[in-house]
Amino acid sequence: MESKYEYEFENIKLEVESTANDSLVVKSTDFFYVCPKCGYSIASDEASKLSEYEDYRPGVARIEKNNKSHNNPFGKGKCSNTSLIRYSLHHEFKTDVAKISFECDTSDYSTMLSVMHALLNSFAHEFSIERRDIKACLTYKKTNGKMEHKIIIYDAVPGGAGHSRRLVTEDGEILKAVIKRAINLLDTCKCSPSCYRCLRSYENQKIHEILDREHALKFLKQFV
Ligand SMILES: [Zn+2]
Ligand SMILES: [Zn+2]
Repeated sequence: MESKYEYEFENIKLEVESTANDSLVVKSTDFFYVCPKCGYSIASDEASKLSEYEDYRPGVARIEKNNKSHNNPFGKGKCSNTSLIRYSLHHEFKTDVAKISFECDTSDYSTMLSVMHALLNSFAHEFSIERRDIKACLTYKKTNGKMEHKIIIYDAVPGGAGHSRRLVTEDGEILKAVIKRAINLLDTCKCSPSCYRCLRSYENQKIHEILDREHALKFLKQFV
């Protein structure tokens, strides 16, 4: 089941597209250093373990200089291999997806990330959806040298629970209501750049500093 609608809010075109049981590849920003021999791994936020590696620098593809060897995670004693390889965590799952495209300048990553979190919060409020039941991510492509971002809102449960599809209606009224609620939420805050009342949450703590209430507000005000 697929549907796609185009609206014009204040002369700016918006498009929403929903797909049920769409396949979504989620690439985590986290990575792990994994032993190819035994499967021992260190997550990117395990600073004390990483600091045991002399050659560790943030982002390097391989680490091996450590005078301590690691233990096999399955209780089979010390592992004879020392070099660990970096892996990103990728996973693919099928769920309900709503994709929102805006025909205006969407090139600023921090603005679009802020808009994404504002819409996600407002959408959860509007339909009394548990905040952890919906998620979002940005997609981007480069067109004529300019970055274009789209917002994808999706159901957190594999298979989908039908939440994100509710955003996609023929008359666009739901999306408009969600945008208005987001504006209200942002407009009644006084923080800079953002706070727990408007854009921040425990889940997005790694990007708190780049979430910007005023930039998101300015972007969304174009549509009302
Ligand atoms: Zn090993
Ligand atoms: Zn705030």
